[in-house]
Amino acid sequence: MADGLLIIDGEACIGCEACVAVCSYAALEMMDGIAVVNANCTACAACIDVCPVGALSLPERRRRGVSVDDYRGVWVWVEQFGGSAHPISWEMMGQGRRLADELRVSLTACVLGEGMASVAQDAIAYGADRVLVADDPALATYRTEPYAQVLIDLVRRERPEIFLLGASSRGRDLAGSVATELYTGLTADCTALEIDPATRGLLQTRPAYGGNIMATIVTPHHRPQMATVRHRVFEVPPPDYQRPGDIVPVPVDLDAATLVTQILEFIRGDEQVNLADARIIVSGGAGLSGSDGFEPLRELAELLGGAVGASRAAVDAGWIPYAHQVGQTGRTVRPDLYIACGISGAIQHRAGMSTARVIVAINTDPHAPIFDIATYGIVGDCLQVVPLLTERLRVALQHPQVAAQPGKSV
Ligand SMILES: Cc1cc2nc3c(=O)[nH]c(=O)nc-3n(C[C@H](O)[C@H](O)[C@H](O)COP(=O)(O)OP(=O)(O)OC[C@H]3O[C@@H](n4cnc5c(N)ncnc54)[C@H](O)[C@@H]3O)c2cc1C
Repeated sequence: MADGLLIIDGEACIGCEACVAVCSYAALEMMDGIAVVNANCTACAACIDVCPVGALSLPERRRRGVSVDDYRGVWVWVEQFGGSAHPISWEMMGQGRRLADELRVSLTACVLGEGMASVAQDAIAYGADRVLVADDPALATYRTEPYAQVLIDLVRRERPEIFLLGASSRGRDLAGSVATELYTGLTADCTALEIDPATRGLLQTRPAYGGNIMATIVTPHHRPQMATVRHRVFEVPPPDYQRPGDIVPVPVDLDAATLVTQILEFIRGDEQVNLADARIIVSGGAGLSGSDGFEPLRELAELLGGAVGASRAAVDAGWIPYAHQVGQTGRTVRPDLYIACGISGAIQHRAGMSTARVIVAINTDPHAPIFDIATYGIVGDCLQVVPLLTERLRVALQHPQVAAQPGKSV
């Protein structure tokens, strides 16, 4: 019986229900005293271990796993566009360096593109011991199939134990394709990466169940252990252009089938919001009561040279486009200053902004959870407080010497 991935030997099954009890996905049920599997099955294999009569199995390819000791080293994919590396790559490189040092192995950067000499040098400066460079016109712009083929071939040949990619649009796309073909685990959107000293396995932590718990995921039987991490979760390490490192050119031999997708044109989207790189973000939530409520926030953001963010409640209400959403299903940001206006501070919102250096919260409810993480809290109506704040800051910015005098009101 195999509606799901699991194979159940109906002759051997004794109907003890041990498999039903252990299944976290409600993928097993009893029918006429025999276990049957449904489409919820994820092939996690938890039931196989508890079956007392060995009636459960997975197809050989799925069950086999690999000899994990044959895999060594940490790899990072360096994402670039038009010859400029995405900063997320250097954030990954900082983590890769830390993990490689802990495991006492080398850190390898994978650079794919055309004319990649300077990106490869940067990769060494940011921590790579070795850079594998696939430099070819066919890789000039990102396409899933050729990029995936190059990386899959490299992984099969060199066998790294850990492979990290940024959780950008391209990184998510590429990581899924590579992990699927290599038949290994992939944990998306990690917020922490650690090594288990007992097993040297990668502990991959990410929010789960709507952000209400943090789940730590391991990949015990398959390699490489693959993870993506969102932009700005980790700091970019300082580059060191004196670091030594090897640049290794990789021959590119692509199947014609991987080149069928053609890039015809790049069209820049209308939405120019760059929340991830903003040093100051003024963010609004349901407390703004409507799209007009964002106007004073835009004024304040403009005065401070910052960007406007929003909670999902404000986005869902149609007051502001999704590109502004901060949080678990929006952007992760790490600004110097985050001003949260009329935002309650739900865990899913905090997941995207709690690492801001300074958080100012303005809320009418003194018990709003956002005050738990705020550096400064203002209990009040943001529709009144924000224009006052803007006015005062405008004066202070025009007359900094007056604002600096203690006791002087501006
Ligand atoms: C799977 C999942 C993913 C999610 N992803 C995200 C995400 O990415 N980002 C996100 O933000 N949310 C996300 N959410 C939703 C999240 O749970 C909250 O519902 C949402 O963050 C609430 O937005 P809010 O704080 O603007 O609204 P509310 O929770 O309604 O809070 C409004 C706040 O405004 C205050 N207020 C009211 N009037 C004023 C006023 N005049 N001046 C000052 N304060 C005032 C109130 O006291 C209240 O604290 C997600 C939820 C789920 C289940």
